[in-house]
Amino acid sequence: MSVPESFDLIVVGGGTAGAISAIAAAREGLSVAVIEKNSYLGGTMTGSGLTEMNAAGFQGTPLYHGLEKEIFDEMIAGGYAEYHFGVPMSSNKEVKIDRLRFDPEQTKLLLDKKAAESGVTLFYETMLDAAEEKEDCCIVHAHSLYESFPLTSQYLIDATGNADLIRKLGKETIKTDAQKQLVSTLMFRLSNVDQEPLNRFIHSGELSKVIQDGYDTGILKGKILAFTPIPNTKDVSLNVTRAKFDYEDARAASKGLMEARRQILPVHHFIRGRVPGMEHSYISSIANSIGIRESRRIYGQYTLTLDDLEQMIPFEDSVACGCYPMDIHDPVTNTVIWKVLPGVYHIPYRSLLPKGLHRTLVAGKCLSAEKEAFAAIRVMPIMMNVGESAGYAVAFAKREGRKLDELTAASLSSYLKQKYSR
Ligand SMILES: Cc1cc2nc3c(=O)[nH]c(=O)nc-3n(C[C@H](O)[C@H](O)[C@H](O)COP(=O)(O)OP(=O)(O)OC[C@H]3O[C@@H](n4cnc5c(N)ncnc54)[C@H](O)[C@@H]3O)c2cc1C
Repeated sequence: MSVPESFDLIVVGGGTAGAISAIAAAREGLSVAVIEKNSYLGGTMTGSGLTEMNAAGFQGTPLYHGLEKEIFDEMIAGGYAEYHFGVPMSSNKEVKIDRLRFDPEQTKLLLDKKAAESGVTLFYETMLDAAEEKEDCCIVHAHSLYESFPLTSQYLIDATGNADLIRKLGKETIKTDAQKQLVSTLMFRLSNVDQEPLNRFIHSGELSKVIQDGYDTGILKGKILAFTPIPNTKDVSLNVTRAKFDYEDARAASKGLMEARRQILPVHHFIRGRVPGMEHSYISSIANSIGIRESRRIYGQYTLTLDDLEQMIPFEDSVACGCYPMDIHDPVTNTVIWKVLPGVYHIPYRSLLPKGLHRTLVAGKCLSAEKEAFAAIRVMPIMMNVGESAGYAVAFAKREGRKLDELTAASLSSYLKQKYSR
């Protein structure tokens, strides 16, 4: 039998958080592999039709530094991203946030380029089968359509968004009942939109009447109809479909996906008649996958609470920050429940450390947090920040010859400070 290929770090899931973890760690000199079931990096960020990084800034100033800032700056320089400060949320005009609007297709190209330049080994269209953490190394089994193979590494990052690796390592995780989960959405994109009348209409306040009418007549399944113009195009992305299902039940998930897809034509017909600028629009794409807002989370060494965010606790082992409000897409009322938070809050390293593991971290939305805190921190800029710090933390552990749960808050924090000050 041939010897398995060996890496310093294997990142399972090259999504919003995992892609940046891998690039950050590789730039620190680690050999890094990514196992990704899709054929591109970015996960939900690039494959779910999303086009707006929520709370990428705070009070009119970009919030993030390091590799995340480098990526945002390159997207802006490439002409497919731009900041919009103080934008009201379509489901609540009182909630205003700073956003980075972007084109996900071009972002896929950028992430590929960054991964290649930093020497990351990519296993696209490859699924995780099994994993094991041993005293001195980790073993991962994966398969593509044509082969099954083992890999070994010193460290692992679970960036699957649903704690799939942690479960395969035999640890318990938390799953909210299907009826109580945040609602899922299949995004789609309209082209040939006349942006000027659309923007005037959105700012006129008349959109809420259209939403209410759409909801009352059963065309809209939730009280949300959010249009996001995509920079330098005549396109908008639409956050409007709603589906409730158990994402781990293949039959239920397929029905949920089809239900969301069925909503698209009636919604498009409705808005063409009611929303200025939409008259000549056409459906140019439907997201590759349905966006599942809430999935499994880990039991970590620390469970982040909404109270921590409200009090902006300055954790000694803070690895990431954010300012997005709690935003619950409620399956019962079909509304969005908001709670604005007072400022910039923090996420501690211990929320990335799964209980009972030593060589594995999580990056992304499956980190250890209560549901209400999760509903705030889950947005892309925060997940990228978590991902980047997770990559640096592994690089630091390797440099120190330590396991991931042996790093001290003070030493990790001073290492991260250097990384983000560059
Ligand atoms: C409908 C919807 C709308 C949203 N709107 C916004 C918004 O407007 N702005 C915003 O900032 N945020 C938004 N969010 C939140 C944000 O997009 C996600 O929370 C965030 O992208 C999650 O990042 P992640 O890295 O944890 O997961 P993901 O980006 O989903 O990455 C997980 C990756 O792991 C891979 N993977 C999973 N399991 C396996 C496996 N077993 N083997 C191999 N690969 C695997 C997946 O293919 C994927 O690439 C939205 C989310 C949804 C669902």
